[in-house]
Amino acid sequence: MGLSVKFWGVRGSIACPSPRHVGFGGNTSCLEVVAGDTHIIMDAGTGIRALGQEILKNDIRFSRVMLTHTHWDHINGFPFFSPAFRADRNFTIMAGHLSDNGGVKAVFAGQMATPTFPVPLEAMTSTLTFEDFRAGDTFELAPEVNVRTAMLNHPSGATGYRIEYGGRSLCYVTDTEHIPGKPDQNILGLIEGSDLVIYDSTYTDDEFPSKVNWGHSTWQEGVRLCRLANAKKLAIFHHDPDHEDSFMEQVEKDAAKMWSGAMVARETMVIDLG
Ligand SMILES: [Zn+2]
Ligand SMILES: [Zn+2]
Repeated sequence: MGLSVKFWGVRGSIACPSPRHVGFGGNTSCLEVVAGDTHIIMDAGTGIRALGQEILKNDIRFSRVMLTHTHWDHINGFPFFSPAFRADRNFTIMAGHLSDNGGVKAVFAGQMATPTFPVPLEAMTSTLTFEDFRAGDTFELAPEVNVRTAMLNHPSGATGYRIEYGGRSLCYVTDTEHIPGKPDQNILGLIEGSDLVIYDSTYTDDEFPSKVNWGHSTWQEGVRLCRLANAKKLAIFHHDPDHEDSFMEQVEKDAAKMWSGAMVARETMVIDLG
């Protein structure tokens, strides 16, 4: 087995389960990455609920949950992640933006605290290990699975990831805001030569001027970064909930015209990098 990714949630901000979003999917950020024998979950948005059912079905016992950051759309599904309530399961939850800020465990406990949630974190009977690192760190996640990280430009910080296995690599770069005309050097360094870049494409370049300081980027900036860094493929990701299927179909056409390596991420889509 090589390196692959499945999209369980492709939306930013808030889940949008409507008939007009079902084509691309309404769940918020969650990816499943398989690198050989290593199982990785990237972000715990609402997409993680269905992934949890799949994990139980496939009897996966151990996984790392690597978070870009802890805004709601990236952690809100975790209280509904059924495998976490199973004593025979083991999860390591990692974040790179909170080591000076109370740590990731406190955020997960806070999310499940009364009076806004009835079941506390301690009710999760799986073995949960929380690990804080610093965005920019590099580590060997498992034998032959190497991870590089970079700080992104987002309110309260966010971590971009590059996962390398078997000579292939994929990068997960959300949420981040670009500065027009000044390609983000942190991101260019992270994605250099990568096989796949999954990028914060909340807006279009046309929408961006009215969204400055909102912490997000555009699919066109994703294309520009990939070209500059000689990355092979771009997955347009973190879709704005206001972008219904008809809008996203147009993005798909426009992106294909701008760069043949670009595609739009859809819920349940799988990309196998070999
Ligand atoms: Zn987000
Ligand atoms: Zn965010």
